[in-house]
Amino acid sequence: MSQTEQWAARAQRALTPNYRQQPVALVRGEGVRVWDADGKSYLEFLGGVAVNVLGHCHPAAVAALTEQGRTLWHVSNHYFVPRQIELAEALLAVTPFARRAFFCNSGAEANEVMLKLARKYHADQGHAERNEILSTVNSFHGRSLFTVTAGGQEKYQHGFEPLVPGVRHVPYGDVAALERALDRKTAAFIVEPIQGEAGVVVAPPGYLTAARELTRRAGALLCLDEVQTGVGRTGKMWAHEWEGVAPDLMSSAKALGAGFPIGALLASEEVGLHLSAGSHGSTYGGNALACAVGLAVLRELTQGGLLERSRLVGAHLRARLEALTAGGRVASVRGQGLLLGVVLKGVRAGAVMQEARQRGLLVNAIGDDVLRLAPPLTLTTAEAAEAADLLDAALAAAPAA
Ligand SMILES: *Cc1c(COP(=O)(O)O)cnc(C)c1O
Repeated sequence: MSQTEQWAARAQRALTPNYRQQPVALVRGEGVRVWDADGKSYLEFLGGVAVNVLGHCHPAAVAALTEQGRTLWHVSNHYFVPRQIELAEALLAVTPFARRAFFCNSGAEANEVMLKLARKYHADQGHAERNEILSTVNSFHGRSLFTVTAGGQEKYQHGFEPLVPGVRHVPYGDVAALERALDRKTAAFIVEPIQGEAGVVVAPPGYLTAARELTRRAGALLCLDEVQTGVGRTGKMWAHEWEGVAPDLMSSAKALGAGFPIGALLASEEVGLHLSAGSHGSTYGGNALACAVGLAVLRELTQGGLLERSRLVGAHLRARLEALTAGGRVASVRGQGLLLGVVLKGVRAGAVMQEARQRGLLVNAIGDDVLRLAPPLTLTTAEAAEAADLLDAALAAAPAA
């Protein structure tokens, strides 16, 4: 029995069976590469689900973590945490907001507080009846009960009912449907600039701009879920910058910690103030270790020039993937920056994922016909080309659907 098979057997006994895991046990990583327990190496193009913007064990992240690890880990928010204040300032400096950041530990938690605050903002002004959350069909906002309700995907809700009341859904990208749905009871509209988990579904141009205008007119808040799209993933710090739209509230997580758990809510001054003393909190939120890493990530993206470089390599990877359409099994490539969906035809995504894995390339199948790629922003053009070649071979080897 290989090491990997042994780990698989132990996982099946010890863990809850909620993940459909690939038969790969990963023990080491460097840059875009990871190694399994049997010594086989892979190009890791899922990026830990759009998390590892710096790749694995980036020297700047390792230095920040080890230095902070020797100094102070955790004291709770009963006290000021200088690293947390520094990260808040650094984050706000690259957002449309001058003030108000709140830290937690994951994307779900960031969206949970975003939705809670949207309700409280209106309730504090005597409009408790304005409590409805509008969300989009097939969105993904996390697995807490409120966020799984907002996501509106039956497969993630089944058996967990009753769900949170006061959540409605409109089709993604449909301006007219959004306009019809907004009314005097709408507290907020929560939306992803690109629907990542749905298969890298990009909103039509002008959608966020229209959402901004319509929510403003209706007196509702615009809440952007930038958990997957933010912190450089699409080639800008935030995906909403592509449309020049400023939300009222915004969530971040995933890439913000580059693999160390952290989440953040960014708010306008007007709304952020309503997260008043005692109204919300998190024991670990914004602890010194997480914030030290977050600071290193932001430094690499801005001062380190990683953001610009990622746009070039993203364009290169996309061109290589688009060239694969000539093989007849790639219908199109969608997404932005280094968040890409390869839409397949005549072949199952799961089969291609398996062939790719055997050849040393890890990608993520979404549904039957999309492969999601979210490699580190540190990717080189040579690595992008290597991955495209492996994918080409995997596409050719996979059986017809
Ligand atoms: C991953 C994701 C979340 C949930 O983040 P967790 O850290 O898994 O809780 C929420 N929204 C979007 C858009 C995501 O991609």
